[in-house]
Amino acid sequence: MSKRIDVSDLDIYYSDFLAVKGVTMAIEPRSVTALIGPSGCGKSTFLRTLNRMHEVIPGARVEGKAVMDGVDLYGAGVDPVEVRRQIGMVFQRPNPFPTMSIRENVLAGVKLNNRRLPKSAADELVEASLRGANLWNEVKDRLDKPGSGLSGGQQQRLCIARAIAVQPQVLLMDEPCSALDPISTLAIEDLISELKADYTIVIVTHNMQQASRVSDRTGFFNLEATGKPGQLVEMDDTT
Ligand code: ADP
Ligand code: ADP
Repeated sequence: MSKRIDVSDLDIYYSDFLAVKGVTMAIEPRSVTALIGPSGCGKSTFLRTLNRMHEVIPGARVEGKAVMDGVDLYGAGVDPVEVRRQIGMVFQRPNPFPTMSIRENVLAGVKLNNRRLPKSAADELVEASLRGANLWNEVKDRLDKPGSGLSGGQQQRLCIARAIAVQPQVLLMDEPCSALDPISTLAIEDLISELKADYTIVIVTHNMQQASRVSDRTGFFNLEATGKPGQLVEMDDTT
């Protein structure tokens, strides 16, 4: 698990509006890359294109390349559903499916990908994914209760469990702590540092301290030029 992504000369449009311009970035396996920049400079837009989520947004389109271990993610014949299976996404607001149990939430992505598992294999996957998300001990006695009954931080770890259950190579996280309290934030940061052993991680954050705590490299978008298309102006090793 864990693959590299090489982005080159990526432009991202919403219809005629150029939202992100000319991004070139190497994202190493088993590393955490943080993306920082002012609101509206295109960080979410950039993240969404890495797993072809932009294709569900009307008018959104991409020019340039993103290559994962030699495979052109935008290449003809590449299935966007498979791209999204290999490149998982976690959003700002924890979004477990409210009518589903904790267990069903973990398996939701697996079902979307049309994998049918025998019950024992499903049980093992649920446990492994929840352990992987540092949530198992807190929920093991309530797997059939709704995911929406958990605290915000637990819900976010449930969303991470759902993302890793489909065994992706890469995890994209769009401000995963912005809706959380400080204690839950630290739990997610610890988790990100652990997940780095198995996944390539890209995290959008507006928090410099967070970037320095969790990331190996930081990409800065539009340090001064607000109102311009999003551009990667600097890529530094995080100190
Ligand atoms: P950030 O994540 O850095 O705050 P976004 O990627 O959300 O920035 O937005 C970048 C720019 O693209 C902004 O000008 C925003 O208004 C615009 N934008 C974002 N999503 C859409 C969309 N679905 N349609 C049109 N414009 C959008
Ligand atoms: P967040 O701050 O949580 O990243 P936003 O409030 O920027 O989200 O955007 C919420 C939703 O609206 C997103 O799906 C984004 O793509 C869309 N959006 C943002 N800006 C625009 C825009 N200018 N036109 C159309 N949709 C937009």
